[in-house]
Amino acid sequence: MKIRVLGCYGGQLLGFHLTSFLVNETVLLDAGSPTEVLTLEEQSRIEHIFLSHTHLDHIKDIAFLADNRSLKRWAGTIEASAITIHSLQENLDRLLEHFLNNIVWPDFTKIPTKKDAILKLKSFNSEQTINIEGLKITPIEVEHPVPCTGFLLDQDGAQVIFTADTGHTERIWEIANEQPNLKAVIIDCSFPNNCEALAEMSGHLTPQGMRKELSKLNKLGEISVYLYHMKPEVLTEMASEVEAENIPHLRMLTQVDELIIEA
Ligand SMILES: [Zn+2]
Ligand SMILES: [Zn+2]
Repeated sequence: MKIRVLGCYGGQLLGFHLTSFLVNETVLLDAGSPTEVLTLEEQSRIEHIFLSHTHLDHIKDIAFLADNRSLKRWAGTIEASAITIHSLQENLDRLLEHFLNNIVWPDFTKIPTKKDAILKLKSFNSEQTINIEGLKITPIEVEHPVPCTGFLLDQDGAQVIFTADTGHTERIWEIANEQPNLKAVIIDCSFPNNCEALAEMSGHLTPQGMRKELSKLNKLGEISVYLYHMKPEVLTEMASEVEAENIPHLRMLTQVDELIIEA
């Protein structure tokens, strides 16, 4: 399994992209930044978006991915296939009601026609595994002010956990600990320690909160841990707090990272 980081920040500043990971070239985990990073050709290979939740920093580029693909379809390019968005039913409903509602942005689930639309929506249930050409993806509910799922990724006997946006949570760690060959964890770490109350309120973690969460992980110290969703303007401050936690094999993700996960 190959995970290419397109964006890994919880805020947008010049040069810092919002959350989006490209898995094996055809699957996106969240869509904060794909059209800012990928070439048109790379964008056209995307077939699935797994959406953790509906906050703008995770859905923004659904709008522009759909728009770019629509133009290709208009030009008669046959490989401009549909993109299937997978999420909890309530998230898909909100996406249609508040985002692709023909006011904020066109409803690409009906363009050019409903039958042959650019975007297709497919709901999943929490802890239901979806198999995309050998890549097994299981959503797991986490703690955030809106319905949100992290994801377990499993391919060729190796597993990765992506917590998505979360505060203190339990179930995802139980599932992480059940995995036979967990290789890596990507975990929320949004604010510096002096913003603990803000983190609590907004359903995120600080370096101290992140350490508390990771203490639930049996393989801590043996596997790679990557932090994501850092607020760019406090990145330097956070980097020293993260270093002070002194956890082996742990670091902040960067936008040039490409994680190759093998059994
Ligand atoms: Zn976010
Ligand atoms: Zn969020």
